[in-house]
Amino acid sequence: MNKHILVIPGDGIGKEVVTVSQQVLQKVATRFGHTFTFDEALIGHAAIEATGNPLPQETIDKSNASDAILFGAVGHPKYDNDPSAKVRPEQGLLGIRKALGLYANLRPIKLFDELLSASSIRPEILRGADILFFRELTGDIYFGEKGRKDNGDTAYDIAIYSRYEVERIARKAFDSAMTRRKKLCSVDKANVLESSRLWREVVQKMALEYPEVEVEHQFVDAAAMLLIKDPRRFDVVLTGNLFGDILTDEASQIAGSMGMLASASIGDTVGLYEPIHGSAHDITGKGLANPLASILSAALLLDISFGLKTESEAILEAVDATLKAGLRTRDIADSSTPANLILGTDAMGEAILARL
Ligand code: NAD
Repeated sequence: MNKHILVIPGDGIGKEVVTVSQQVLQKVATRFGHTFTFDEALIGHAAIEATGNPLPQETIDKSNASDAILFGAVGHPKYDNDPSAKVRPEQGLLGIRKALGLYANLRPIKLFDELLSASSIRPEILRGADILFFRELTGDIYFGEKGRKDNGDTAYDIAIYSRYEVERIARKAFDSAMTRRKKLCSVDKANVLESSRLWREVVQKMALEYPEVEVEHQFVDAAAMLLIKDPRRFDVVLTGNLFGDILTDEASQIAGSMGMLASASIGDTVGLYEPIHGSAHDITGKGLANPLASILSAALLLDISFGLKTESEAILEAVDATLKAGLRTRDIADSSTPANLILGTDAMGEAILARL
């Protein structure tokens, strides 16, 4: 198979982890007889520095010309504490999701057994948890009208959803539930928000088309509690942009670390694959970043965009074998991990490559 992959490293540890996951994709290509060609593009702070624009048109053009996108992270400390900055790295990420119509963010939360002790949740509550989040990506409070009034002393952000936006992601979530354990939990705040009442109405109507899927509706506050109390009760979780953003970070603790969670952003064209973590300024440049979330994102890319299930599985097996061998990055190590088994970013990458 010949495929063209656009690599967008972005900022901070984004660059560090994507270097490793690109090597993993190259290794898969060699082992399975595929040809992957790679190009690179700028986004975020790196793009602002080079062009003044967090999302240059060239990046959009290269994205549209690719078969899939391997993405790192965006962000820079100089903007985090400067609410007045008009141009921000995150505009690059929100912009590319919008420009490519990437409306569905898939986040699988599955704990590798070897990491049971790395989570702050008790192993007997966690073991066997396997959740697939569908977070809506292009609507909600992130994209509604926002502004200030009363001389800047009052601020507002409008949460907005249209029926078709809910329908298209709900359809993907129901279809996915049919291939899994046939359970779907839709999360909203329909007791308070009108946009959530539309969300629930659409999901209830679609549920009639999927009689085999057991559907429940949870308010976001209850869902946040249940995720920690009993994560195994969830199969597919469907939710909006803001609630999904928060719940998936919470759920990252089920998987042990932000450094373990992959995601796929898909729409009707090219898919974008990225770890859920950000640019992690606190560890940038120290060689400490866990590359596994990015490597697992590369596995999702092979599966979802290219339909290469065996190749995707091979990456999961290599990650599993590496963890079984006791190798850890610092974020997933615990007090019992011997110091010589705690690896930096590149060494963890080499351990995965060796097992591939
Ligand atoms: P973060 O995800 O970058 O980091 C949160 C914590 O998790 C940090 O302590 C970090 O060291 C740790 N961590 C994250 N990824 C890790 C990895 N692979 N290995 C080991 N440890 C890891 O979130 P933050 O600190 O809130 O934000 C930092 C910057 O990233 C901000 O500028 C923010 O806007 C941006 N951000 C970008 C994205 C994205 O690009 N998708 C997502 C979230 C935050």
